[in-house]
Amino acid sequence: MFNGFYEELHEEFREVVREFVTREVAPNYQEWDAAHMMPRSLWEAAAENGLLGLAVPEEHGGMDLSDYRFRMIIDEELARADCLAAGLAFHLHDDWVLPAVLQFGTEEQKEAWLPRFMDASLITSVAFTEPGAGSDLRGIRTKAVKNDDGSWTLNGQKTFIGNGISGDAALVLARTGDSYSLFLVEKRDNPGYQPGRQLDKMGLKASDTAELFFSDVNIPAGNLIGEEGRGLEYAKAVLPQGRLALSAAAVVVTDTVLTSTLQYVKDREAFGQPIAGFQHTRFQLAEIAAQLEAAQRMLAAAVEQHNDGGLDQITAAKLKLHTSEFTKQAVDTCLQLHGGYGYILEYPVAQAFLAVRLMTIFGGTSEVLKETIAKDLLS
Ligand SMILES: Cc1cc2nc3c(=O)[nH]c(=O)nc-3n(C[C@H](O)[C@H](O)[C@H](O)COP(=O)(O)OP(=O)(O)OC[C@H]3O[C@@H](n4cnc5c(N)ncnc54)[C@H](O)[C@@H]3O)c2cc1C
Repeated sequence: MFNGFYEELHEEFREVVREFVTREVAPNYQEWDAAHMMPRSLWEAAAENGLLGLAVPEEHGGMDLSDYRFRMIIDEELARADCLAAGLAFHLHDDWVLPAVLQFGTEEQKEAWLPRFMDASLITSVAFTEPGAGSDLRGIRTKAVKNDDGSWTLNGQKTFIGNGISGDAALVLARTGDSYSLFLVEKRDNPGYQPGRQLDKMGLKASDTAELFFSDVNIPAGNLIGEEGRGLEYAKAVLPQGRLALSAAAVVVTDTVLTSTLQYVKDREAFGQPIAGFQHTRFQLAEIAAQLEAAQRMLAAAVEQHNDGGLDQITAAKLKLHTSEFTKQAVDTCLQLHGGYGYILEYPVAQAFLAVRLMTIFGGTSEVLKETIAKDLLS
């Protein structure tokens, strides 16, 4: 990010994160990438360093680091070490599930879950998408039926669930009668909660993404989030932070890829000169740098709005549309500047190319975001 965005406290936090990434993540990342899975010990190490559940308030034993710049530092340091999948795994836990509990959970739920959020004994997933419904969540079929004792019985199937195999619990959107409700469903003591196939993604392989099956899963009454029937509303309410997180990751990846590409074009020679000497190369890099700064400023304004009490849906939609589409194009351009090496997976630009392809899809596709923005414009 640009000078002045972070303050001293953030830079102190960065030292902790950088040390954690250097010691715990980077040396093992290739192994996890090959295994398509990160071990629980990574989460435990993150917990020991105070990197999970940043926004948990002090009264629940947290650090109350709700200033979003702290979360961004984790993304930045993981991106700099080319460990993007770890960023995605933490992001689902901290930017989707945690805000839902903080905003809509009862005091009892917070007391029960938040310490476990922070100590890595409750690794969480977001389970909204189903084989038949992604953009249009009204089409979901997973169903929770209320029992006489107030508990619920859950049946259905989800797909594309990050941390789906490694996680302990999922934030599940389910039909309850004619409406929808949100539950935190724990895997333990629930044999009907079964992760399915590990999905073979094109990028971000170190984070597990899976199908989830629910067969007569018992959900205690106390695991309903907020009020029955308001699940879609709650799911929508957590979108801005999720989209902010994706946008922050997009900006960080572009920054990292631009930096490594600048070095590459200075080092690589063709026709008797560094490829940085060609006007075409220079103009492309200049365009990316200018657009990157615009994206950073847009992101900074959104972070400020988030920190001041809430990012609105339209700003978040515009931000994610702009940053994810820009990143997709910028990383593609940088890959092209690497020539054949850009196509080889040991080059971070190739990994980044595969990773950022997700960004215009997950958390609301670009087309759906355009619909949201246009609806607001024309209302
Ligand atoms: C790697 C990965 C990780 C993911 N992680 C999670 C996760 O952890 N939890 C989770 O719940 N989900 C997750 N998802 C799911 C993701 O959020 C969905 O894939 C996304 O919302 C799109 O839904 P869909 O795949 O069903 O596509 P569809 O909704 O079927 O869309 C297909 C196409 O139609 C277009 N389209 C749809 N509606 C409209 C419209 N109104 N106007 C114009 N075009 C439209 C879309 O833009 C898209 O181009 C993940 C997906 C991937 C690939």
